Amino acid sequence: MRYRLVLSCLGCLLFLAGCVTTKFDQTPVVVKRTQMQMGTLVTITSVALDRQHAHEAASAGFQEIHRLEELLSTWIATSELSRVNAAAGKVPIRVSADTLKVLEASLEMARMTEGGFNILVGPAVEAWSVLDRQKVPSALQLEAVRPLTDLRSLHVNAEQRTVYLAKPGMRMDVGGIGKGFAADMAVVAMQKAGATAGVVALSGDMRTFGQLPGGSRFPFGIRHPRREEAVLAFIDLQDEAISTAGDYERYFEQAGVRYHHILDPITLQPARDCQSVTVVARDGLMADGLDTGIFVMGRERGLALIERLPGVGAVIVDRSGEIWISSYLKGRVRMNAAHE
Ligand code: ADP
Ligand code: MG
Repeated sequence: MRYRLVLSCLGCLLFLAGCVTTKFDQTPVVVKRTQMQMGTLVTITSVALDRQHAHEAASAGFQEIHRLEELLSTWIATSELSRVNAAAGKVPIRVSADTLKVLEASLEMARMTEGGFNILVGPAVEAWSVLDRQKVPSALQLEAVRPLTDLRSLHVNAEQRTVYLAKPGMRMDVGGIGKGFAADMAVVAMQKAGATAGVVALSGDMRTFGQLPGGSRFPFGIRHPRREEAVLAFIDLQDEAISTAGDYERYFEQAGVRYHHILDPITLQPARDCQSVTVVARDGLMADGLDTGIFVMGRERGLALIERLPGVGAVIVDRSGEIWISSYLKGRVRMNAAHE
């Protein structure tokens, strides 16, 4: 009798030990998947305790990005932003809490970057039409669209959750901040679906959470703005976002001058002071908004702003190719010896 009790207790203990070991011995599984979303390649790296959860979490991430694309894309006629744009000069439009959040963050970013970041530059970007026309617009053409880029004519009512563009022809475009926001939201969806760590990368806008199996951070390369496919520097991230704005993605050259897709809202000309701006911050919304805004502000004012923001760092390649690293990232950025 006593024997049996001891045996069953032993069995119980062994069973418990079995549970404990399977739970803790299991090496996490890493799954990496890529899809085309928001007009770009989206790669999700998903870490979970088993393959099924890793896949489910990756799918949840993609689904969330799809949901946000349906709200924010100006390429989709039925999106909330397209409906606000179509109602410019006519009526305010009620929007979702997510759209409201991106717009409020965009206005905050405009304040922080002293107007460098401006989600109303769309009509001016169109006048340049960097990819289709490859022709420099006249000063007259640019001045004609200037009133449409005035942020004082964008009315966001947080209580009513409405957005109104006061002048016909005005247009919002969150291309400079939306991908970072989508990365943040995809991370939340992945965590809910059981991922313990991961990366959501919408081309140059990436957000990480947790660590790789084995306890290392996620490694990233910062692109060289003048050598195709070359890495300028390396950095490891944990629970941070990284985002790069550069003049090398979409541009044309005429008489030795490079015309690209990030406009200075003051001059309505392509911003001239930087080749690339990489920002590291806690969340993607901040990193993505700041890279575009600082690209416009230029190296000196941009670095001064970065130094004032806690938990935010930047690597700036200025117009002459000189590399500037803010104090938050000093000691964390490893230059690629091949390009020194
Ligand atoms: P991408 O990853 O698409 O290159 P960026 O973060 O570099 O995104 O932002 C560039 C996009 O932002 C442009 O395609 C344009 O739609 C928009 N844009 C251009 N100039 C500005 C600006 N001064 N402020 C905010 N958005 C801008
Ligand atoms: Mg950006």
